[in-house]
Amino acid sequence: MKNEAEKVFEALGDSGRLTVLTGAGISAESGISTFRDSGGLWDQYEIDDVATPEAYAANPSLVQDFYNMRRAHLGTVQPNAGHRALGRLEELLGDRFTLITQNVDDLHDRAGSRRLLHMHGELYKARCADCGVAVEWRTDISLDDRCESCSGSMRPHIVWFGELPFYLEREIPEACGDSAVFFSIGTSGMVYPANTLVSQVKARGGFCVEINLEKTAGPGVFDLQIEGKAGETLPLLIAELEALL
Ligand code: NAD
Ligand code: ZN
Repeated sequence: MKNEAEKVFEALGDSGRLTVLTGAGISAESGISTFRDSGGLWDQYEIDDVATPEAYAANPSLVQDFYNMRRAHLGTVQPNAGHRALGRLEELLGDRFTLITQNVDDLHDRAGSRRLLHMHGELYKARCADCGVAVEWRTDISLDDRCESCSGSMRPHIVWFGELPFYLEREIPEACGDSAVFFSIGTSGMVYPANTLVSQVKARGGFCVEINLEKTAGPGVFDLQIEGKAGETLPLLIAELEALL
């Protein structure tokens, strides 16, 4: 991994910014099923039945149950070495570092990441469907739960398909806009608009690295592709990088 770390270090320089995008793959080794890999939770549900505003309007209790189940499961899993390596990278780079995650779990938070943008929301929050206020929420959300400010109904603080992700107006474009290095980790690149971030960085000359079990795009997109489990490859890469920084 020394060779790979040297390439990253060369692209980063003394003052370059590094932005990371993670997807479900980084949490797979913690025991949270990914979206498209077979054998997981998502095999048992149709996306259209549980992860769209239309589904919530048609069958709110099914949607609440689905997220209540995921929220309860989250309490039984732990961050893995991949999450922790990214926490360490943030310690090393400080405000040159931003982590954008598509994951709604809190495993990056628990592994120490703070410069962290949950673009698709957070399982441990509920949001008022009327006034939009989001509050910390660790237990089941019921259809009877009401907003403290306006008495609206509470829904999962999750960006469903067809809804606009968070932080797209300022924080994400800022982080990607001047990144010398971009890591895309454990994401299939199928979900818009997260899958456009790498090409934005690339178009401005940034050095783009993919870490995944398999290549999701060709060398036209990524300058470096590291195949393997994020929980195994990331700690090695970041330890080598630490030795150079
Ligand atoms: P995805 O399921 O579409 O893709 C997962 C990717 O991770 C695949 O490319 C796979 O090859 C790779 N992968 C699997 N195990 C890996 C490992 N150990 N190390 C490295 N890579 C590994 O996930 P996505 O691209 O994040 O898109 C799915 C959408 O579903 C997102 O919007 C996300 O919000 C949501 N989702 C979130 C969670 C979570 O919060 N943990 C879980 C499932 C789905
Ligand atoms: Zn409200």
